[in-house]
Amino acid sequence: SLLRILLIAGGTSGEHEVSISSAKGVLAAMPHPTELALLAKDGRWLLGKEAQEALDAGGAPEGLHPFPPPVDWHSYDAIFPLMHGRPGEDGTLQGFLEVLGVPYVGAGVAASAVCMDKDLCKRVLQQAGIPVVPWQTLYQGEPALEPPFTPPYFIKPANTGSSVGISKVKADQDARKALAEAFVWDRKVLIEQGIEGVRELEVALLGNIQAEASVVGEITYRSEFYDYDTKYLEGRAQLHIPAPIAPELATTLQATAIRAYRILGVRGMARVDFFLAPDHTLYLNEFNTIPGFTPTSMYPKLWQASNLPYPKLLDRLVRLALE
Ligand code: ATP
Ligand code: MG
Ligand code: MG
Ligand code: MG
Repeated sequence: SLLRILLIAGGTSGEHEVSISSAKGVLAAMPHPTELALLAKDGRWLLGKEAQEALDAGGAPEGLHPFPPPVDWHSYDAIFPLMHGRPGEDGTLQGFLEVLGVPYVGAGVAASAVCMDKDLCKRVLQQAGIPVVPWQTLYQGEPALEPPFTPPYFIKPANTGSSVGISKVKADQDARKALAEAFVWDRKVLIEQGIEGVRELEVALLGNIQAEASVVGEITYRSEFYDYDTKYLEGRAQLHIPAPIAPELATTLQATAIRAYRILGVRGMARVDFFLAPDHTLYLNEFNTIPGFTPTSMYPKLWQASNLPYPKLLDRLVRLALE
């Protein structure tokens, strides 16, 4: 039976355009009648035809309706939040939908908030014995300590995605600039040991608490790291699906991702990013509870390669929201 879906896209984070691109992909493949609400960069909303026009234009600098926008929330069977970063992926929009009492796709309030905050997420994973890359946390206004690691290290805002605000620091004198850039996006940043010669492996998960895992994918590129342009400019990164790794390693990644998903209490979906060091140490890098659905995004491609085509994947996601 067909379900009525409201897709929410755009957002005020550095990933507004990424969300727009994700939404185009989802709207093209969604097997259920779907309407669109768009959060413009100025924090106001666009609905219906206004939202569609902004989508076609590739983004919306300005909206028309203040929050909460005049949406008949209860007329939909499920809401699909497809905003990356804050306030769509971090549990705040999810909290609003909880209070309204409408089903929505993806993780709930706590899991969204913890997965969005790379510092909190790593603490939970570490407590569960899942290996994470060593890091330190710094809040805005605190004195920057002596760099705790030898270069290269990474400086990242705690709550962004698409590599927005992330720098690779190759010499200590570049740390100050990297910190300033990260603090543009967040009041909390991570300073993380850089892994040289890292292999980047990703797994897609689907399910409510008990997840199914996709095949493992690998990303390779020529740039310094998997930065914003490398992620979204066609041809900059190569996706290898399935990843050319030993079957035992693939099984370990899938099992680790599934275990972490349950511990974090994720519902719906997630894309889990792993790092494999040249000495074969495996780290869980981070969790994305609203992974990209753009033409260059891993999440739908991993499911496609796991015998779950894009429209079927979307159908599974909205059905999981109703469970
Ligand atoms: P996403 O778009 O997947 O949400 P993100 O913005 O949340 O990404 P990360 O996945 O933490 O950020 O990092 C982005 C990229 O930066 C990684 O894919 C990797 O290329 C590089 N990177 C981050 N941390 C490290 C590290 N400790 N060592 C080596 N490379 C790193
Ligand atoms: Mg991320
Ligand atoms: Mg992300
Ligand atoms: Mg990542």
